[in-house]
Parts: sequence; structure tokens; C-alpha cells
Amino acid sequence: MSDYTNSTLMIYNSLSGKKEEFKPIQTPNVGMYVCGPTVYSNVHLGNCRTFLSFDNVVRYLKFIGYNVRYVRNITDAGHLVDDAEEGEDKISKKARLEKLEPMEIVQKYTLDFHHVLRLFNALPPNIEPTATGHIIEQIEMVKQIIHNGFAYEVNGSVYFDVKKYNEKGYNYGELSGRNIDDLIAGSRALDGQSEKKNPQDFALWKKASPAHIMRWSSPWGEGFPGWHLECSAMGTKYLGEQFDIHGGGMDLKFPHHECEIAQGKACNGIEPVNYWMHANMLTLNGKKMSKSTGNTLLPHELFSGENNILGKAYSPMVVRFFMLQAHYRSILDFSAEALNAAEKGFHKLMNAKKIINQLQYKKGTVSESENNRINQLIQDCYTNMNDDFNTPKTMAVLFEMVNKINKLNTSDNMDISEEVFSKMKTTFNGFIEDVFGLQSEEQADDSIVKGVLNLLIELRTEAKNNKNYALSDKIRDELNTLGVQLKDSKEGTTFSIN
Ligand code: AMP
Ligand code: ZN
Repeated sequence: MSDYTNSTLMIYNSLSGKKEEFKPIQTPNVGMYVCGPTVYSNVHLGNCRTFLSFDNVVRYLKFIGYNVRYVRNITDAGHLVDDAEEGEDKISKKARLEKLEPMEIVQKYTLDFHHVLRLFNALPPNIEPTATGHIIEQIEMVKQIIHNGFAYEVNGSVYFDVKKYNEKGYNYGELSGRNIDDLIAGSRALDGQSEKKNPQDFALWKKASPAHIMRWSSPWGEGFPGWHLECSAMGTKYLGEQFDIHGGGMDLKFPHHECEIAQGKACNGIEPVNYWMHANMLTLNGKKMSKSTGNTLLPHELFSGENNILGKAYSPMVVRFFMLQAHYRSILDFSAEALNAAEKGFHKLMNAKKIINQLQYKKGTVSESENNRINQLIQDCYTNMNDDFNTPKTMAVLFEMVNKINKLNTSDNMDISEEVFSKMKTTFNGFIEDVFGLQSEEQADDSIVKGVLNLLIELRTEAKNNKNYALSDKIRDELNTLGVQLKDSKEGTTFSIN
């Protein structure tokens, strides 16, 4: 771990409602799972906020020396239009509307998601499993939960028995703070047609109606997995029956994460996750940004300026900076004023970064108090991030460094030691680039070019897989004319620019 982490990392655990000292199961390894997008439409900026909040968490853990296995799934089946477990699958519905195959919808919006996160300079996860790729694991988990006596089968569907679970001493509601009796009282009474024993029971496996296209064989007949089950199955597969951190947006606490805890305990008899982290919402005009209500702003509408809300374009790095200015557990509202201020702040920060990287140390009379002050600022960057990843406070410390850097730049000699100067430079660069993932706009342009090329490579592979060789050759040849060579190998395709 880094020298400066003499304060301990504290993480707010939504399960206990307290900040707790972070103790990984197997230091220096950390297992972290974050719920990924349901790929039935373009990701909006609200979704991006949650993914970027966890990007900062992963980046900081790595920065202080942890070896992180970061798993973020793609939900490509099982998430129904009505979260109350009825209705069409969100992906099939979109496929019907767009007259495409469900997997074409999945491919299209997964590519968009990857592309957007690349523009924001988010690190890719180590493993990105899909729900449809883990049907067997999900079926096995359902079998085990039935075997342990916590689920029952009715007419080709399997439901989790919440009452039984609580009778065995567990506590459904522990994460969301909901009380089971209130849940029962608040639910619609069973109308006699429902197969569930109790209204709060949730589906682990649903029988597919004849119209339901996304379906798989199972011991209970043809059907599809429940949305909550996929994350339990994939988390367990790649991180173990118990792992360190599970993240997602605040709106996933109930029922999604509540059900994940119940499934994990009912299946394996242990607490599945040690630290539950929930990122707060991005709002637009004071209301949650949400696909279902249409109160959204898409990343490309923001980057191109083509929207009726903001009046001008903002770069991905300015937006990333804007999001860093709020703590991940606070609500953040989108507005033109806030983005304009962020744009100024971002340029000021990156300008200071340019200065310190060009500045030569100039020997002068060293002031001990100034040395101590800079050492304190360096320490404060860690202390603030160790305090539940407090990015706004860390940013404020970096801005104190900006003032110092600008002063050093205009003075003839320096009042700090060469060692402190160099530590400040390393810390300043490290927090901006590695922890906050901020790049100068030139660097970002460079990564946009890389992002676009990788996108074209993915599209070419897709064309080849569909035997559309005319299109795949066209992509290769046109890129070649532009001086970009594609090289195919067993591991995939890479590019080089002449
Ligand atoms: P979904 O694709 O709907 O499954 O959502 C993907 C992620 O985005 C989940 O972690 C959600 O909690 C999160 N999310 C959805 N809306 C917002 C929002 N307005 N602000 C922040 N995160 C959000
Ligand atoms: Zn999930």
C-alpha cells in the first residue's frame, strides 16, 4: 500500500448504514461487482454517473496498491418492463419495436455503452459477463435454493419464499430497511390467480409464455431467469460465495440488491457481500434522469450540443470533472451554470498540470512551514479519498495545489525543497490522471480516435460474423487508405497508424 495511506480507507456500507474500515477478504486482492446496464437503449448520463462513480472507486483502490478484480455485467435478458415481474422482457420489447432480433438490440446498445464509457475514459472491467451466457449457473443456483428449502415451483415458475427465509432467522429487508410486515401490508392482495404463496415472494425462474422469445430449457420447463438471480450467479461465479464490494445505483437497493442478499444466503448460507455501495442519482430539472420517463440527456447530445437544455457542447472530460465535484452519495443536478463552472475549473486544473510538468525546480530559501503545508496537502488527498472516496474534498485540495503551482511558476526561486516539489508533482499528476481519470482535451481527442477505431474494428468483426464480407472488406480498405492498418490475429484485431 502507498506511503501516504496512513489513514485507513473507510467505506460507507449501505447494509450497516455506517462508514466502516475497509478490510478485504484477501489483501491485497479486492473483488468488486457492479450491476451493469440493461442494454435495451442508449445509456443516459444518469447511468454514466453511476458507472463513473465506481470507476473512481476502482481507480483509487488500484492507486493505493490493491489488486482489483472488477466484474460488471451486461443485463441482456430477464429484466422485465414492469419491475413487479410481469410483462415483456425489456430487450424483446425493444426488438419488436425496432424489428430486430433481441441479440441485435443487445449488440447495438452494448457497443454504444462501451463507446460512451471509453469517451469518459472509464477503465474496462476485468470481466464483463452477460446474463444469457450464464443460464446454466443460474439454473444451478435455483436448484440449490430449492434444495435448501427456500424456493418452490409452481406451474413451471420458481419463486423465492420470503416468509420461509425470515422464519429461518434471516431478515429480508435488512438492506433497504423495509419491514416484511409492511411489505405484506403494502402489496396488492393476491387475486387468487397469482401462483405466489405470498405477494412479496419474487421469481427466480419464470415460465415463458408462448409469445416470450428469450427462453431456455430448464428442469421446470422452458423459461427465463429472474433479473435478480443473474447478478447473484455471476458475482458468485467470478468472485466467490462471499466477496468484498458490490455496487450499483441507489435505485437498485430494493428489490434488486435486497433479493441478491437473500439469494446468496439461501443458496450458500453466508453473507454474499461485505460492503454494499450505492451511488446517488443524477437529476435533470430536479427529477431523476430515467429512461422510462423520458427525462434524459444522452451523452452524444451533450458532446455535440444538440439538445434543448444546455445550449452548447461540453466535452466528456468537462462532464467527468463536473461529476467529480459531488460526492457519489449525494444527488447531483445537471444545469448549464454548473457545467460552465466545471468547464472553467477543468481548464484551470489542466493548465496547472501542464505548468508543473514543464516547470524546472528553481533553488531558493526553503521555508519549513511551506514544506509542511505542501506535505499536508499531499496527505490530505489520501485522507479525503480514504474518507469514503470523497472526490469533491480531494478536488478542493488539488485546487490549493493549483494556487501553489501558479505561484511557483511566476517566482524566480522556490520556497519548498526539491523533494517536496517532486512529491507534489507526482501526487498532483497521479490524482488527476490515475484516480480521477481526467485527461487533457488533446489526450482525450487521441483517445476518441482510438475509441472510434476500436468501434470500427468491432463493427467489422460483427460484419464478418454475419458473413457480410463486402462491409468488412470496405472497413479494412477505407481505413487502409486513411493510413490505418488492421492486423488480425488469434487474439483479435489491432490497428497501427502510419
Ligand atoms: P439500468 O440500465 O436501468 O439497469 O441502469 C444501469 C445503472 O444506472 C444502475 O446502476 C442504475 O441504478 C443507474 N442509474 C439509473 N438512472 C440513474 C440516474 N438518474 N442517476 C444515476 N444512476 C442511475
Ligand atoms: Zn445487478
